Amino acid sequence: MTKQNVSQILSELPNGVELVAAAKTRQPEEILGVVEAGVKIVGENYVQEAVRAYEVIGNKAKWHFIGYLQTNKVKKAVRIFDMIETVDSLEIAREIDKRCAQIGKIMPVLIEINSGREKQKSGVFPEKAEQLVKEISTCQNIRIMGLMTMGPRFGNPEDSRPYFVEAKKIFERIKKLNLPNVEMRYLSMGMTNSYKIAIEEGANIVRIGSKIFGERVYGAITKTPSP
Ligand SMILES: *Cc1c(COP(=O)(O)O)cnc(C)c1O
Repeated sequence: MTKQNVSQILSELPNGVELVAAAKTRQPEEILGVVEAGVKIVGENYVQEAVRAYEVIGNKAKWHFIGYLQTNKVKKAVRIFDMIETVDSLEIAREIDKRCAQIGKIMPVLIEINSGREKQKSGVFPEKAEQLVKEISTCQNIRIMGLMTMGPRFGNPEDSRPYFVEAKKIFERIKKLNLPNVEMRYLSMGMTNSYKIAIEEGANIVRIGSKIFGERVYGAITKTPSP
């Protein structure tokens, strides 16, 4: 029962830790259900799914983009989302900046860190993060609000801990720089199998999908593959 899952998770989260319900593959009605159960932020991986869900839920929740953002989806994305958690290149930041300027919006973003330095994964490598933040901080329609990282999704949750420790270190280092347009407030890390460990290591946004909605079934309702 998703409502009970939401109440249980919310009651266990420490003060100051925000819950993002990771909603990929879920139907708008299911997502509306968890919002009515107390979820304040919905995380979407695909702009097209977000558009559908937004039509039903609108401003009853905040919307975070947590997937891989394609340049040609940015124009639509900046209208719906309240935060983009997965900025990992100057190119995508410039596109966000440009599209936000056109509609007079300032977009809060997180920089996604590839803590494990895995070539096939998205996110900026840890040693490149500071430079990227400096470059993006010149974009006037973007506010960098912190960092996001994934960590391994399967296996032993403890395997995620070094990834989270690494992201937290980078977070603190960038915070000390006091850059313009940069306000290091959020560290988004941890999913169903790892969020408790993430919180121990300093996360204040956790992104939880299966523990709220149940296991995902791919193929039936979406063409998009598992990340
Ligand atoms: C799917 C997803 C999650 C949630 O994963 P669960 O294991 O279902 O909790 C969190 N973050 C991102 C970026 C995701 O794509």
